[in-house]
Amino acid sequence: MKALCKSAPGEGLWMIEAPVPEIGPDDVLIRINKTGICGTDIHIWNWDDWASATVPVPLITGHEFAGEIVELGRNVSGLEIGQRCSGEGHLIGKASRQSRAGKFHLDPATRGIGVNEQGAFAQYLRLPAFNVVPLPDEISDDIGAILDPLGNAVHTALSFDLVGEDVLVTGAGPIGIMAAAVARHVGARHVVITDINSDRLSLARDVVPGVVAVNVTEDSLQDVIPRLKMTQGFDVGLEMSGNQQALDGMVEAMTMGGRIAMLGIPPGKSPVDWSRIVFKAITIKGVYGREIFETWYKMIAMLENGLDVSKIITHRFDAADFEAGFAAMKSGQSGKVVLDWTG
Ligand code: NAD
Ligand code: ZN
Repeated sequence: MKALCKSAPGEGLWMIEAPVPEIGPDDVLIRINKTGICGTDIHIWNWDDWASATVPVPLITGHEFAGEIVELGRNVSGLEIGQRCSGEGHLIGKASRQSRAGKFHLDPATRGIGVNEQGAFAQYLRLPAFNVVPLPDEISDDIGAILDPLGNAVHTALSFDLVGEDVLVTGAGPIGIMAAAVARHVGARHVVITDINSDRLSLARDVVPGVVAVNVTEDSLQDVIPRLKMTQGFDVGLEMSGNQQALDGMVEAMTMGGRIAMLGIPPGKSPVDWSRIVFKAITIKGVYGREIFETWYKMIAMLENGLDVSKIITHRFDAADFEAGFAAMKSGQSGKVVLDWTG
């Protein structure tokens, strides 16, 4: 099969011929139709400090996928050959206290496909049947291929009650924009999204009708608050940039007792004005991955009931043209980039 591999340490990925994975008794084999390129894949392409410390070589990369089950391990029940599916790319252990309590997303032994284990940028993927998420007919393979990052957005956005609340999203990358869409969908009052990149803010306006998109290099959140007739500031903050100034600006723009969910990953240690957080009585929650499988359930239910994030996919390429796909992703002007493995 064709597979996109980190064959050796250093920059780049290589399309190789690899054996179709053999499945174990509790696995399924998935024929991949579409995959999404993630920021994580860019780190792996660039072979930065994180990637070189984390990713074993050689490794087939990629963790955002949709496809079809073509083989079932002998212990697998409840799934069928021909079933369209996506799946959770975090492979969890079952021994930890968290897993035994059903909080699978908090298992400390989690390993990621395309990061620690063979990934989905390939014509076939082996996945534990436990991780499979069947796709209803209404959800296309394109959307199926971006459920992993949509799941990050949903998990973060649903961390706090948003109904009637004023919500600030910092960072209009694909995940921030999808989180803004979720906040609108579930009934937030004002949803404001910030970035420093005007292309990304235009995309946000395009994907999420009614969102207020603010370029913080030109406009101040402190001016936006009275303009939207908010009395104090934002009730809920969703940090989706990993940028220190964005977090500082968010803390300043929150109301007393505000709640912040942080998905963005700062590049290193970054100073925080703790006294502002204490005196404003702000709650901060770190968010990792998706809830397994509650986020998947809610995300699919919302997609079936009118949540529309389709315009976040701005580029589509055949897998053979992966270099163009990665270039689009690195340009900072794309939304999600989807590769087609069916050709
Ligand atoms: P992205 O890099 O595409 O988007 C980040 C955006 O933040 C960019 O558009 C950038 O211009 C913007 N930004 C930079 N400085 C800013 C500022 N001062 N104010 C406002 N915006 C600013 O990333 P993404 O793929 O959308 O992911 C969002 C974040 O979530 C990233 O930090 C990523 O590493 C992180 N992430 C975390 C998890 C998790 O499990 N915690 C999972 C996936 C992604
Ligand atoms: Zn991803």
